[in-house]
Amino acid sequence: MSVEQFDAIIIGAGFGGMGVAIQLKQLGLENVAILDREDDVGGTWHVNRYPGLTVDVPSTTYSYRFEPNPYWSRLFPPGHELKRYATHVADKYDLRRSMRFNTTVEGAQWDEDARLWRVNIAGGETLSAQFLVAATGFLCQPRMPDIPGIDSFEGRVLHAAQWQDGDSVEGRRAAIVGTGSTGVQLIPELAKVADELTVYQRTPTWVLPKFDFGFPSVVQRLFAKRPRSQRILRWFTDNGMDVMMLVAMWKYRYFKIVNWSAMNSSKFNQFIWIRDRELRRKLTPDYDYGCKRPTVSNTYYRAFSRRHVHLETEGIDRVEPDGIVTRDGRKRLVDTLVLATGFDVWESNLPAIEVIGRDGRNLGKWWRDNRFQAYEGLSVPGFPNFLTSASPYAWVGLSWFNTVEYQMRHIERLIGELQRRDATVFEVTEAANTRFLEQMDELLEDSVFRLGQCTGSRSYWFNHSGDAPLFRPTSARRAMKEQERFPLSDYELA
Ligand code: NAP
Repeated sequence: MSVEQFDAIIIGAGFGGMGVAIQLKQLGLENVAILDREDDVGGTWHVNRYPGLTVDVPSTTYSYRFEPNPYWSRLFPPGHELKRYATHVADKYDLRRSMRFNTTVEGAQWDEDARLWRVNIAGGETLSAQFLVAATGFLCQPRMPDIPGIDSFEGRVLHAAQWQDGDSVEGRRAAIVGTGSTGVQLIPELAKVADELTVYQRTPTWVLPKFDFGFPSVVQRLFAKRPRSQRILRWFTDNGMDVMMLVAMWKYRYFKIVNWSAMNSSKFNQFIWIRDRELRRKLTPDYDYGCKRPTVSNTYYRAFSRRHVHLETEGIDRVEPDGIVTRDGRKRLVDTLVLATGFDVWESNLPAIEVIGRDGRNLGKWWRDNRFQAYEGLSVPGFPNFLTSASPYAWVGLSWFNTVEYQMRHIERLIGELQRRDATVFEVTEAANTRFLEQMDELLEDSVFRLGQCTGSRSYWFNHSGDAPLFRPTSARRAMKEQERFPLSDYELA
């Protein structure tokens, strides 16, 4: 049976996968397949459609630098605009013809003799490619909470990440579990239509005021006609976000005052909307700002000032067919249960598929046996011609686009060199990988993860060993610069 062969296979048709595809095309690789288990382009912005979904990073920064969108309706636009932007990028860069939807990749193995990746698709098909790129994202496996009795619940269960158009809690006696970034966006929207809404909070979140504003059509026309004007705004949002990440998270040792100020601004945000001191206390985290994903909202705290919205902090003992019982034995009747319980980052992800490299090295097992690690957040020794975009130490800044764009630069330099040398296989050296890991470790010494009070934050940014290896603890600007000058000798090219 003949096996279809590609220059590159990219798993994931989100912004990460599209960025890589655009870069590979610029390098002359045309025969590329972009595989996605969903039925359309956009990754998380195609999948997530719960009420209140907005991007919580300014749109000027949350977009490709090389593809500005003058038509954002506001600084923090709703999710469907991101989906529209993804569609625009796919069409403009002619990526659709490379995309195959409803295609679930189950695993991939490096074939040493053929110097190719073999990629197994659910259903039995196998494809092969010179290069394999996993652009599957960090937040792609919805997590179902392991609450006793949840399967016996007879009402409706809606997971935020599986929300369908038309799903609603209108007129319902609803409960929501989860107060992370998703819960913070969803709760005010549910509160608008539910008869009763009980919020089951396990760990509170720092919620900062959101400095948001609309772009009237005259401004959009200005951005379209004079892109420089939008670039000026982008300069502010890029640098504002970058400096905030740098000082509040990576240089926490020297700038604790910034975290203190952020926590106070969250408390002030509470104070404006909530008169009840005890309620404010319950909504206030006891861990430092920066340990866990902070959120922004001008409506979250306000939602709790409504009579039909209740905060429950006792902890859930069990779910019964018609309600939820807390640890103190109280039961609330519920007919709709909304789960904003996030994503599994550490078990079924990293990697999202089984990847077997040289000499049978299994990526997931190797990471778990030897610590999570990836050189420049992209390549792993023992895995030739393989790049992974949502990998350890990859995530720089809160905007995913920062990560995508520095990785594009890395790919440009790496594959460009491979082509210049007429080589076909690259592999990062063990030495370079170890050096990079040590460097990340050292940088983390100054971070809020190591020095802050993070106990009790239950942050998914930490794994079970207490390590926080998702982020590259540098500014986005530095990550970008480093891709122009990483030593090419860090790779073996053959
Ligand atoms: P999350 O931050 O992991 O929050 C999950 C929530 O569910 C937490 O409050 C968690 O409580 C709670 N939870 C989970 N299992 C539970 C259980 N068994 N019992 C009680 N509570 C339980 O997930 P998320 O809110 O979906 O956000 C994930 C990430 O997606 C964010 O960090 C962000 O990166 C991204 N995101 C971005 C946007 C945006 O830009 N627009 C919007 C939403 C999400 P604990 O904290 O106690 O574990």
